[in-house]
Amino acid sequence: MNKKLSSYVTSQRFSVIRDMVARAQAYDDVISLSIGEPDFDTPAFVCEAAMRDALNGHTHYAPSTGDADLRAALLKDICAKTGLPYKGTNLLITSGAMHGLLAVMRTLLESGDEVLCPAPCFSDYAGHTGLAGAKLVQVPTKFENGFEPTREELEACLTEKSRVLLINSPCNPSGVVFRPETLDMLADFAKEHDLVVVSDEVYDSIAFGRDVQSIVTRPGMFERTVVLNSFSKAFAMTGWRVGYAYGPEWLMGEMVKVLSYSVASTSTAGQRAAFHALTGPQDEFIAMREAYQRRTALVARRLNAMPGVRCLEPAGTFYLFPHIDAAEVDSFAFAVDLLDKEQVVVVPGFPFGPDECVKGCIRIACTVDEEKLNEAMDRLERYLNTYHAGSR
Ligand code: PMP
Repeated sequence: MNKKLSSYVTSQRFSVIRDMVARAQAYDDVISLSIGEPDFDTPAFVCEAAMRDALNGHTHYAPSTGDADLRAALLKDICAKTGLPYKGTNLLITSGAMHGLLAVMRTLLESGDEVLCPAPCFSDYAGHTGLAGAKLVQVPTKFENGFEPTREELEACLTEKSRVLLINSPCNPSGVVFRPETLDMLADFAKEHDLVVVSDEVYDSIAFGRDVQSIVTRPGMFERTVVLNSFSKAFAMTGWRVGYAYGPEWLMGEMVKVLSYSVASTSTAGQRAAFHALTGPQDEFIAMREAYQRRTALVARRLNAMPGVRCLEPAGTFYLFPHIDAAEVDSFAFAVDLLDKEQVVVVPGFPFGPDECVKGCIRIACTVDEEKLNEAMDRLERYLNTYHAGSR
């Protein structure tokens, strides 16, 4: 029997994040700072409204483009947020932003094409581009520049195969929010080299202070930008699997085929829940975002007081990406040893970018409460004190 499989699939590696979670199962009293998922449950009013809708017959396929009520509510929101004249033909509902990422890459890319992405960046992007037959080119940025890309760094990675510029602000794993000048530069760069921009904005509502702008609002970007967003993080709805994508008609009109052939339509119950989350009272969601701000500030403060650690204070998301001297040699070995000695789960930095920008880094997700975070920081501090005492 010929067991040959598609190299687009076999060349992908399994998620390091899930590997760390699996390892943690062998230990008791573990504090997990590894998975990028809100610890809050979806508010009860959302679940109840979705259940009522299901009992009233919302149990069939939705259109491939999405539930009409959800689309109308989103369009209003997107037009207000961007000040741009989006219409129904610009918007598609996806099964989470993961599905949106895969669908947009599948629609845009041919075998051998390249996707430029400032790193550190979300580790799963390699899978989204690889499954479309293309290559993710992680562009290293510098801690000293607050992990924001410069034009020179991008130019250095550009080839005649570059087709897409993929950006993510606020950023998983660094918590960085790109400054308006950086977005101007990125827009100019994309226009000059005729790149399509895929802007992953799933954390745009989890931002602390700094104004979160979208690259699509820059002149000339409407026609060459697809924005991806999701209900997962902002509304604590990861399990409902609802996201959305908006962009120019020439692209969205083709992308809908990928949605249609892959899932037919996103879960109807999920879309009803998303509609109620978007149009219902916002106070619970605001409280969650305030909790992420308190948590990330607390962890940044604790980390920066530890020996051999430096960390940017996140301007958004619930992640931090500290550099730890003790993790310089091998961030994976560091993460495994920290789990073994102190039962704290973190994600090693290596899947998030090239060595020159992620060496010695780990990702911490603040998806436990402040008491647990303090306990985790006590354990990490004890671990590092022992490490530094040993190496003296
Ligand atoms: N983009 C980024 C940057 C993410 O961190 C995630 C989730 N970890 C996603 C996209 C996908 O989110 P979902 O599919 O749940 O909408």
